[in-house]
Amino acid sequence: MLTLNDSSLLTDSCLLDGAWVKARSGATIAVANPADGSEVGRVPSLSPEEISKAITAADRAFQGWRLLAAKDRSIILRRWFDLMIANSDDLAAIMTAEQGKPLAEARGEIAYAASFVEWFAEEAKRVYGDTIPGPQADKRLTVLRQPVGVTAAITPWNFPAAMITRKAAPALAAGCTMIVRPADLTPLTALALGKLAERAGVPAGVLQIVTGEARSIGKVLTASDTVRKLSFTGSTEVGRILMAQCAPSIKRLSLELGGNAPFIVFDDADLDAAVEGAMTAKFRNAGQTCVCANRFLVQRGVYDAFAGKLAERVAALKVGPGTEAGVAIGPMIEEKGAAKVEAHIADALAKGASLITGGKRLGGLMLEPGVLTGVTTAMAVAQEETFGPLAPLFAFDTEEEAIAMANDTIFGLAAYFYTRDYARVVRVSEGLEYGMDVVAGASGRAVLLPEAPVLADRDNGGAAAIQDGRVATPGVKGAIAG
Ligand code: ADP
Repeated sequence: MLTLNDSSLLTDSCLLDGAWVKARSGATIAVANPADGSEVGRVPSLSPEEISKAITAADRAFQGWRLLAAKDRSIILRRWFDLMIANSDDLAAIMTAEQGKPLAEARGEIAYAASFVEWFAEEAKRVYGDTIPGPQADKRLTVLRQPVGVTAAITPWNFPAAMITRKAAPALAAGCTMIVRPADLTPLTALALGKLAERAGVPAGVLQIVTGEARSIGKVLTASDTVRKLSFTGSTEVGRILMAQCAPSIKRLSLELGGNAPFIVFDDADLDAAVEGAMTAKFRNAGQTCVCANRFLVQRGVYDAFAGKLAERVAALKVGPGTEAGVAIGPMIEEKGAAKVEAHIADALAKGASLITGGKRLGGLMLEPGVLTGVTTAMAVAQEETFGPLAPLFAFDTEEEAIAMANDTIFGLAAYFYTRDYARVVRVSEGLEYGMDVVAGASGRAVLLPEAPVLADRDNGGAAAIQDGRVATPGVKGAIAG
């Protein structure tokens, strides 16, 4: 039983046109705690007709919301941020109960999720336009930025709060309305955010949170001409389906899809910094993030040393329920995910790799974090996203080989590399075909941009931000954050 300071944040209803409603059919979906399989709550399974009503309400609400002064939208968003911070213990408790991540990580995610609301509350007042010299003396070109209208968000289970605020805060700040369909594995955090948005004064229909069967809701949202934009974070397969479904109405789309992030350690890297970075890049949320390092490419001269140091740190990670003190690795979200990690280990071992630590099932959905050495590109871990607490170590000899191995995937979301050679930082950063490069440069400290809103398209001249000896290249290849 989940004990909260404010029990009203845990709800079994959806936020539809300013009211908290159940499905007319009475249908519900159970939400399970992945740590022990117990039921955390139930949420409505809304019908396509009920989703259509949400779209109508969002359209109606848009007419008023867009006309508010930006300052007034900003004040409401700022109140939402304040309420998220004030209720962060409860929000984190709900998140850990339905998602499994350790409480400390859940609290961190709430702060991160709230930061989007804070940021866009401020940016709401700064939606500037442009004036451009006209082609003729009597012409002036003026660019106005206007809200696109009703928007929809479909979000994943691995960041049950941040993936919602990252989409909803900019939409609301701009004057759009939004319908959020959270993942069915983690809808309770989303609904709690809806409770706080309502208390903050977000008007009826401006932000709606709907739950139910993914495919049917996705179809209604994408088929609607009223919904002008869809923002989706999730798997590449589902992204492809949604993109196709959005084509007939030529909807605007923001997609953040799968990854297969390389984590490259060069001979000249600060190995301790690289191990430290690897722990975060690989084991956050038990390896269940789209920007998680999936393939460790380690130069032969430091391979054994890196493997030894990493294995020592990984063996010390405590696995267990996210509510238990000191736990660093919570349960996998569901059996399918745990089984995939086990299949990747079995495949690698059958093809000659060695498991130097961990990799065992501890019961239920608890997996020991593992490190594999002697991994080759013939193994499944080379091409598929493992999405779990497993670090496979590939060896390489030259920089060119590392770049080629890193790019040998259809994914291009995030990449990490460690070196102390500044010229190499530039070469490798430019050679990696990835949207987000995380680099440990001269200071040996990485600039982490995971899950950050992507700032620019590399092909559109994505800028390199260089500060304090640390280098980050935000950009996009095939994946755009919502
Ligand atoms: P993951 O593997 O992370 O669960 P998915 O892409 O399957 O990634 O899911 C991401 C989100 O998309 C979830 O909220 C899920 O319920 C939803 N979803 C899955 N399939 C569809 C679909 N066909 N249409 C709309 N939403 C979908």
